[in-house]
Amino acid sequence: MRFETKAIRLAHTPDPTTNAVISALHLSTTYQFDEVGKNTGYDYGRSINPTRIAMERVLAGLEDGEHCISFSSGMAATDALLSVLVPGDEVVSARNLYGGTIRLFESIYIPRGVKFIYVDGTAPDDFAKVITPRTRMVWLETPTNPQLQIFDIALFSDLAKAKGTSLIVDNTFASPYCQQPLALGADVVLHSTTKYIAGHHDVIGGALITSNAWWNEKMRFFQNTAGAVPGPFDCYQTIRGLKTLAIRMRAHEANAVALARHLEKHPFVKEVLFPGLANHPQHELAKKQMTGFGGMLSFNIRAGSNAVNALAKALRVFHFAESLGGTESLICHPTTMSHAVMTEEDRQRAGITEAMIRVSVGIEHPDDLIEDIDRALAAAQKA
Ligand SMILES: *Cc1c(COP(=O)(O)O)cnc(C)c1O
Repeated sequence: MRFETKAIRLAHTPDPTTNAVISALHLSTTYQFDEVGKNTGYDYGRSINPTRIAMERVLAGLEDGEHCISFSSGMAATDALLSVLVPGDEVVSARNLYGGTIRLFESIYIPRGVKFIYVDGTAPDDFAKVITPRTRMVWLETPTNPQLQIFDIALFSDLAKAKGTSLIVDNTFASPYCQQPLALGADVVLHSTTKYIAGHHDVIGGALITSNAWWNEKMRFFQNTAGAVPGPFDCYQTIRGLKTLAIRMRAHEANAVALARHLEKHPFVKEVLFPGLANHPQHELAKKQMTGFGGMLSFNIRAGSNAVNALAKALRVFHFAESLGGTESLICHPTTMSHAVMTEEDRQRAGITEAMIRVSVGIEHPDDLIEDIDRALAAAQKA
């Protein structure tokens, strides 16, 4: 089956009582035993839930992985991966990560004795040099947030394999429609399903997809043991969202291309960061490893935070809000919002300036988006 078909057909769970076409939303937290030691395989809702299993089946299929283990948020999925670490272990990570991931690394795992080594993802040689026998995982987020840098997953996979360590790829920004890291050699794919996967700004969730038996066993055990499972209704909403992932991603990308081209010509815009533009530093790599450029872009305006505030207040179609990947277009100011937890120095090193604006391009009519951003840029210019 192709992607679009899997997104729809894998969601189906046979129901012999009704032959329902749509999988049921199972809310029961407990299941009856037939006799001592004999049940249907379903016993307790934290351990197993039919709606959750249906969602995990679709997600595994769309990433072409054998297993999916889902969680109550992207951060809970991240925490599950890190839970295998013991004091003295090391994680080598490409710089430029989601702000919450950095906060989890630094405020929870550093005090527990885990070491994080950050390197420039565009210079993979750096990686090879810092990998030691204590390196338990190599961590990659591509495209990055908010600079939209692209890192070479296949190259990192080769390096990680040569050193006997696992490659984790956070695929949230691309979605499985635009990028399939397992096929490029990643061991585990991480998603905040809150974003493109669920796609409508109404679910918080996370998932790990892997074909690696060791990771599957560890993560399945952790899911049940630590218990940060997604609720059945969230799984139901996510299954529904996934059915339109392909058509949504095509619409997100078409709108992002239109907006990026428009912004590039705008006199008040200094620089547009979008992997689909020919002048993006890793455009060729994006074309090679991605099957679409996605719907995220960032740009720098020719002014500081006063102007950003005027821009934010002038928006009528875009929402000035965090998060990404839903039908509604969002504009975010990384310095004061998504990346506020970073120190000023770290932000500078990551290339996040006060004048940077991140856009999650939704699927409204592109002309309405362009008109809205022009009005907001005019207000910013006057500020
Ligand atoms: C949002 C996000 C996360 C965290 O996911 P939550 O669902 O908010 O917990 C992790 N990685 C990336 C790239 C994200 O955008």
